[in-house]
Amino acid sequence: MAPEDAQPGFVPWFRALCRESGLRATPQRLEILRAIVGCSSHPTAEDVHRILQARMPTLSLDTVYRALALFERHGILVKLWGPDGRCHFDPNREPHHHLICQECGRIEDFTWSVFDALKAPRVAGEWGRVSRVQVEMHGLCAQCLKKEGLKGSGGQPQDASKPPRAERRARGSS
Ligand SMILES: [Zn+2]
Ligand SMILES: [Zn+2]
Repeated sequence: MAPEDAQPGFVPWFRALCRESGLRATPQRLEILRAIVGCSSHPTAEDVHRILQARMPTLSLDTVYRALALFERHGILVKLWGPDGRCHFDPNREPHHHLICQECGRIEDFTWSVFDALKAPRVAGEWGRVSRVQVEMHGLCAQCLKKEGLKGSGGQPQDASKPPRAERRARGSS
């Protein structure tokens, strides 16, 4: 799927990341992280396993689970819960926010400086220490809106607020 040189610089980056996190840079961990970084969405462990199955038939789902948990514990990936109730993984460590489709479950990144500058309310300070602020916008993506429109013969497409006109992040290399 992803040829070796599809992400030049990935291997040295991965090795440096493992070194600074005190992790062993195993070939399996490398491929698991590469699969996630190469995903335009926020995959689950099962998604990652499926992506790698053809190339690594001996890779077990359990190994994928353990590698992802390890990456998450070291702050290399962020865990989030999707509308499907499953655990997804996010390799994007830059400040960003999420557009979540409640129909197809797709989670997309966007950046919006207004949200980045949000000040936490006093109640958050009383609650404890805030380390990250991330906004989630839930609704229907354009594709699902289109399907809704086609389904309801003559009916109105469901009224969902428009996603903000923020710049979507281009993921991966280049
Ligand atoms: Zn959708
Ligand atoms: Zn994200």
